[in-house]
This record gives sequence, C-alpha cells and structure tokens, in this order.
Amino acid sequence: MNKQNDSSEKISRIFEMQKNNLQSLKNISVKDRIKKLKNLKKELFNHRENLQKAIFLDFKKPYVETDISEIYPTISEINHTKNHLADWAKDLEVDTPITLMGSSSFVRYEPKGNCLIITPWNYPIFLSLSPIISAIAAGNAVILKPSEFTPNTNKALEVLLGDVFKENEVVVINGDYIVSTELLKLKFNHIHFTGSPAVGKIIMTAAAKNLSSCTLELGGKSPAIIDKSANLKNAASKIVWAKYLNEGQTCIAPDYILVEKSIKQGFIELLIQEIKKKYGENSEKIKQSNNLCRIINKKQFNRLKNLIQEAIYKNAKLEFGNEFSEEDNYICPTILSDVSLETKLLQEEIFGPIMPIVTFNEIEDAISIINSKEKALSLYIFSKTNKNIEKVLMQTSSGGVCINEILLHILNPNLPFGGINNSGIGKSHGKWGFIDFSNEKSVLKQHFSFSATKLLYPPYTKWTKKIIELTMKWF
Ligand code: NAD
Repeated sequence: MNKQNDSSEKISRIFEMQKNNLQSLKNISVKDRIKKLKNLKKELFNHRENLQKAIFLDFKKPYVETDISEIYPTISEINHTKNHLADWAKDLEVDTPITLMGSSSFVRYEPKGNCLIITPWNYPIFLSLSPIISAIAAGNAVILKPSEFTPNTNKALEVLLGDVFKENEVVVINGDYIVSTELLKLKFNHIHFTGSPAVGKIIMTAAAKNLSSCTLELGGKSPAIIDKSANLKNAASKIVWAKYLNEGQTCIAPDYILVEKSIKQGFIELLIQEIKKKYGENSEKIKQSNNLCRIINKKQFNRLKNLIQEAIYKNAKLEFGNEFSEEDNYICPTILSDVSLETKLLQEEIFGPIMPIVTFNEIEDAISIINSKEKALSLYIFSKTNKNIEKVLMQTSSGGVCINEILLHILNPNLPFGGINNSGIGKSHGKWGFIDFSNEKSVLKQHFSFSATKLLYPPYTKWTKKIIELTMKWF
C-alpha cells in the first residue's frame, strides 16, 4: 500500500465521528454557516502563499495562474454563496391544487448528511474547495479525498481546512484508488466526484450499492468551432489561452478545433503568432517561460507524446511544437492539422497541450463530427453568423456553451456547471451546488380536519364513483 494512504482505522473513525455530528450540523443557523464561509475566505487569503508554493512544487504551476484559476474562482464561489444563502435556504412555497384545498405546501432544504468529495489533480484547490463550499452552505459533513498526484497541495489544503473546520465537519483523507475504494464502501448520503468518465463509472457503481446519491463532474472532448465570419484574431487569442492554460490539463479546455476550410491556413498562422506572443518567440524561450506549467507525471507525459507520434504517423501535419523535455515533463504547445478522425488524438480526451485542427465545409459537417462523439462538457463557437450559432445550439448537446468566448461560463456563479452523460451527471456551483448537497424535502400541511380526498376513501359507493366521474369531466 502507498505510504501516503490514510489507514482504514482512521477512515472509519472519522466517518463515525461525522455521522454522530450530523444532527448538530443540521441545527446550525444560516447565519452561522455564513460565518464559516467568511472564515474560510479569510483563511484562504492567509494561506494563499502556501497554496501557491505547494502547487508550484506539484507541477510548476505559475503563481499568477494559481491566483487566476484557483484562488479567484474559489473566493468568487464563497462570495456568491454567502450573499445568497439566506434566500436559497428559505422554505420554498409552492402552489397547491384546488383538489387539495385546505392545505398548503412548501419545499424544505435539509442537508443530505455524510458527504464524500473525491477530486482530481488538475485544479486541486478550486475543485476541492468549491464543492466543500456548497456542502457546508447546505449543512453537511465532508470527507475530502484529493488526488494522490498533488501531495504538496493536499498538505497545504489540509492545514487550511484544519484551521477552519473541526474534524467532525470537514476532514482530508489522503491516498490513491485503494483509499477511494475503502471510502466508497461506506454508506455516504452523497458522493461528489470530479474526474475521468472511466473512474466516474466505478464511483456510480459503488454508490449504487449503498443507494448514495452522486454527482459526477467528468471530462471528454470539448470542441471549438470557428467559421469564416468569426473575428479570427480574437478567436485565436482566446483559444491559445484556454488550450495552454495549465498546459491543456483543463476539463473545459477546447480539445479539438473545427475550422472552416477556407480560413484554415490563415487561422493557424494567427494561432502560432498568439503562442509566440504569450509564451516566447522561439522554442527555447517557450520552454523557459514562467507562464507554462508542466505535465503532472511521466505516465501522462508519455501518453501525450504517443498521441502526437501516432497522429504524425497517420499523416497529420505538424504546424508547431512537438518538442519535449523528459526531465521535467515539459511538452511544447503543439498544433497539428489534417488529423485523421481515426487517430487517438481525435478519439480520446487529450488533456494536454496538443491542438488538433480539423476542417469543415458546411456547419452541418462540423455538427455531425461533434455528434459522432460522446456529449461534451463544453462547446465553443466563434461566429458572427446567428444562423450558424443557433444551428449549433439546437443540434448539439453539451454541458455548457460559450459563444465568441471561451471557458468563462465556469466563472458565472449564476450558471449551473456540469456535463451530460459521459461528461457528467448533476450540476454544481452557486444555487445548483447548494441544491446538489440538499435534500429537497416536500412538505404538505393540512390546515383543517376536513380534506376533500376523504370523499374518496373506502368503502367505494355509487357516490364515490359519481364524484370521480365529475372530477374527471372537470379535469
Ligand atoms: P481520475 O478519474 O483518474 O482521478 C480522480 C480521482 O479519483 C482521484 O482522487 C483518484 O485518486 C480517484 N481514483 C482513481 N482511480 C480510482 C478508482 N479506481 N476508484 C476510486 N477512485 C479512483 O482523474 P484525474 O486524472 O485526476 O483528472 C483528469 C480527469 O478529470 C479528466 O477526465 C478531466 O476532464 C476530469 N475533470 C473534470 C472536471 C469537471 O469539473 N467536470 C474538472 C477537472 C477534471
């Protein structure tokens, strides 16, 4: 067993301790939950530098990028939740049909209870804290199992969370899939998983054994379409930023680029200009750039290298990049065109700094390529032609869409975030995150001792039948 794995004994002790604390967590007022969120925000600022250092040690992520893509979205999630929690947590009154006259109805949000949050390594701070914010806002207890590939960040997170929460509310359990498997045997009330579709299936199977509800935030191939009416310079700048942020290890990064054939070469030149502008004039400068992190580990490094080699072997044209350095898992931003749809590059989620360019003649051709694949987490379209935009919106299905923009839908806390089927089940962030960690309990209150339905109780007489006939007619 991996020496960083927490023991089974610790896991069952924490689980039982949190279970025994559920009723008191449930009784915590909204005002006090908001206080906890404020405290988390304060400590996040206090621990900011530790977190930046830790994530840099794990995969050389630039400090500024940690601020932009980890700390800022987490603070924004806390702010949004604390500002709206009082509204979300209120009983939601709903209409009651006349047939139930004399009664009123409402939805009460109660915490689900013991929650397990399992997270990946690519945005280890935001992806761990964001579901914790929703879980705490809803009044739950949480065990967080972060990825084993970011040990330094996990340690820093553990210290931060330990400064805000007691063990009977939030705890980090460290370890690999063996620890996950151990955790998944426990009867959690809810499991929130972020990671790959393959592991998502394992999580859902395990959740089914205990009938634990589960939210799956998964990945897949998110396409970006660029038609000839688009502002090409703007599209190139945004696509290069989104593709090479975190070295392409972003669940909503544009995975493959669908470009209208007539603008292909000009667009590729713009992409190359953008790479040089953002990361360096030549390959040596790009490698030395402080703005690019590294591939998380050797396994992923080799997988990505093989994806490029296979595509080139199958006649893809190398437009840029294809340079590596073994010692620090560096892969240069790479662009390939004329890539066959049969390559692994266009079949598997890339999750790295490789940009395959695929051309299309008509928007319908781009749509049919997209629809030949599993439903994407995100879809991007750059176009000034409303007809094309509307066609893509109507004829494709994905978790989210940005039009003439990229990635930013994840930063609007008023939008639900999540995928569909292979890219995810359930939604997170803001109000959707709060609901995800709540049981929406239906309550009907009768105000009188009489209720119309009593007329339908047995014994069933001719009067009962008459009432039913009348009601049916009236319906
Ligand atoms: P992963 O699925 O390999 O691992 C995620 C977590 O699951 C880790 O904590 C890991 O320890 C655990 N795990 C691994 N194998 C397990 C098993 N057999 N049983 C139980 N638990 C197991 O994912 P990853 O490589 O860490 O992250 C990359 C994937 O995550 C990509 O597919 C990416 O698209 C996806 N992702 C999705 C989102 C989103 O919000 N939808 C965000 C980030 C990443």
